[in-house]
Amino acid sequence: MDSDIKKEKCAFCGEVVPRYSTIYVSVDERYHCSCLKCYNSRMADYSETDFEHVELDPIILKDFEDVDHKFHFTVRHLGDRVGIEAFEIKDGQRGGYEFSYIGDIEEEIFNLFAKLVERMLRGLHQKHIEWSETTNSWQITREDVVRGKISCDLESDEFYGHLPLIVIDGKEIKWEDFGQMLMTYEGFNFKLEIFDRSDEMP
Ligand SMILES: [Zn+2]
Repeated sequence: MDSDIKKEKCAFCGEVVPRYSTIYVSVDERYHCSCLKCYNSRMADYSETDFEHVELDPIILKDFEDVDHKFHFTVRHLGDRVGIEAFEIKDGQRGGYEFSYIGDIEEEIFNLFAKLVERMLRGLHQKHIEWSETTNSWQITREDVVRGKISCDLESDEFYGHLPLIVIDGKEIKWEDFGQMLMTYEGFNFKLEIFDRSDEMP
């Protein structure tokens, strides 16, 4: 629920904003929390670009199973480019499906937004895993392809370094469970390719 969204106070304008909409910046060797509005306006000053910060309202899109997903957005000035991110909120923080798009700083923000939404719709209609009643676990679909995000399993043992948490079809899959999924393919070969978070995976 939106009311659970973790909030933080911007050290520059004093606004209390969702944590996902903040960034830590170093000033005089100390880190301060900045809202994206303040951050973007400073970036626009440094880079001498015209940039008007916009807050994009959340939208709801359906996935391949007709399930609703509510997406929140952030817009971030990256100097000569601009990045828009779309993500769901789970337990008050970013989680579930995530998409992003990076465009030229000169481009209209709503054009970039439209391109991101097209990408989201394509992504929401790709099904990579399905629940198997036989094994009582998630299994890779007959397409034999998995696209996902490498996240961090904060519940895993920290001593040797956290294990990955794999997000596939907006679902968080433990590293061990992902390994179990691969055992269906014991003896087969596979190819692992890494993509930037803002790249659409072919
Ligand atoms: Zn601020």
